[in-house]
Amino acid sequence: MHPKASGAGKGSEGPASDAAHAADALLTDLLANTTELLSFYNRDFRLTHCAARLKAIYGGAVAQGAAIWEIYPSFLDSRCRDEFLRVFHGGSPTSIDLPRQPDEAPRSVFVFGTANGVGIRETREHGARSAAEEQEHVILLHQATHDVLTGLQNRRRFGERLQQALAAIGGPKPKAALLQIDLDDFKSVNDTLGHGAGDTLLQLAAGRIREALQDGESAYRYAGDEFAVIQLGKEQPAGAERLSRSLVDAFKEPFVINGIPVFVGSSIGIAFGPEHGTDGEQLMKAADIALYAAKTDGRGCARTFNRSMLLLLEQRENLRRSLRTALERGELYLEYQPLIRPPSSVIGFEALLRWRHPEVGIIPPSVFIPVAEADGLMDEIGRWVLDQACRQALTWPSSLTVAVNLSPAQFLNGSLTDTVAQVIDAVGIRADRLELEITETVLLEKTIDNIDTLNTLNVLGIRISLDDFGTYYSSLSYLKNFPFDTLKIDQYFITDLDTDLKSQAIVRSIINLAHGLGISVTAEGVETSAQVRWLIKENCDCLQGHYLGRPLGAEATSDFVRRSPPKARRTMEESNRAV
Ligand code: C2E
Ligand code: MG
Ligand code: MG
Repeated sequence: MHPKASGAGKGSEGPASDAAHAADALLTDLLANTTELLSFYNRDFRLTHCAARLKAIYGGAVAQGAAIWEIYPSFLDSRCRDEFLRVFHGGSPTSIDLPRQPDEAPRSVFVFGTANGVGIRETREHGARSAAEEQEHVILLHQATHDVLTGLQNRRRFGERLQQALAAIGGPKPKAALLQIDLDDFKSVNDTLGHGAGDTLLQLAAGRIREALQDGESAYRYAGDEFAVIQLGKEQPAGAERLSRSLVDAFKEPFVINGIPVFVGSSIGIAFGPEHGTDGEQLMKAADIALYAAKTDGRGCARTFNRSMLLLLEQRENLRRSLRTALERGELYLEYQPLIRPPSSVIGFEALLRWRHPEVGIIPPSVFIPVAEADGLMDEIGRWVLDQACRQALTWPSSLTVAVNLSPAQFLNGSLTDTVAQVIDAVGIRADRLELEITETVLLEKTIDNIDTLNTLNVLGIRISLDDFGTYYSSLSYLKNFPFDTLKIDQYFITDLDTDLKSQAIVRSIINLAHGLGISVTAEGVETSAQVRWLIKENCDCLQGHYLGRPLGAEATSDFVRRSPPKARRTMEESNRAV
């Protein structure tokens, strides 16, 4: 509120201050009531006063302290900028026609010097448009430039603003920063909790982005779960670094959707104009490459574009291209890692996928499976793995099981149960010899579909294990609501079992909890005899790890079975002696 001119405070401030207050109050009243689209700016090009009607039309962009080019981006355009600067530097008032979009009415601004900077009166030539028509026009304009779901400015506006910002470089504030923001795990929330929850998440995310913004920063929803912020008039790279830190931090707290806390981080790619791109498309490409680097560096972080990232992208592109043909060229194969029941029985094997790339050599699944998932190839590859693993298991004694990992992409595909049933049938293997491993990411929430799929697989007689337990949400409700046969404790807790009392307490509790629910427990990544001894003592049902047997090729696995694993047997005997 501006202070009204009155006798209050007279004694301390004196007549000059009184007059200033009176003038200010007069201006405030005028601006509240005038139908003119008036605004005033200081010598830093920042908004100091503006008419209420202008605010009604432009909405959030017209905030105290907003830069003039955020309200009138055309001033970033060299023709308008030069004329404007002439008045700003003391030239006579002038009228400037603003460039316009094909669906926009002609607009011009009258720019005049003031004691503190400049004033602008905008004129809109809308002929005899009534107040109601004007209102409707404003709403339509808003709809054309804003995203309905989040209320942020949309992709179209983003493109225009980015172009204008880049055209302005060399003007009063030299650098523009583009931050591309992508939500981590949005897809799994959408897939598991439903599209309604996905929409709510996007709205909440937009709110957090908006809250992180300062002057000179504007946010856009660019596509799906991709957002962008254009930052103008800041010292760089410090400005973009500060903003990206606030944005990453803003996503650390869970989002509560339908009463469920959901953790969704944000990854950010940063690029600067003109350094990384002189037009919008180039700059977006650079920010996108930086975003990809942030995603591959573990997500939930920000990265600024640099040229070496292009190499990374090229490698990924090559990988993607050759992965498409890897299956048909016979470059994919499986290894099998023994699963040992103490003291020494091999009860089965876990099938682990490998890619023998003709030039690069062996590529581990952690590198190419995410690429295959993103490219929609995992369904086909997963089916091949299932088929291959079941055929291989048929060559083993019939008491041995085979465990196959499922990617979330396969699990969410409605035809998983049909595929599994078809493969079992075609191969002719007993259903109870197949175990399917899933991770918690596919079970973010118990959806009807998930329960149905698991129950159907269960009815078929197939066993289900929960892989990597302890590393994701570790929600106990999964254990209550899904018919798991096995729980696999992640290597993370096994690695330091010898020394870490906390890991011991966690593993012991998981074993007791699972046993209480009638679920069997497998320890993953067992690498030492001390770990073996400890796990046997705590009644762990099954062990897997390099100490007991590394993943082996198909033939070596058959040998291993024939020799009835000497290493595993010796290991267990040694362990038993030591216990
Ligand atoms: P996972 O299912 O948890 O598999 C266990 C991983 O731990 C395997 O890595 C295995 O080689 C490794 N491992 C086993 N024992 C030890 C040990 O004592 N020490 C250490 N350091 N590592 C050990 P791998 O083969 O690289 O597989 C990584 C992940 O890739 C798997 O984790 C699984 O999530 C995924 N994966 C592998 N094959 C497939 C597949 O056919 N389909 C799908 N969807 N995912 C697969
Ligand atoms: Mg596994
Ligand atoms: Mg695992």
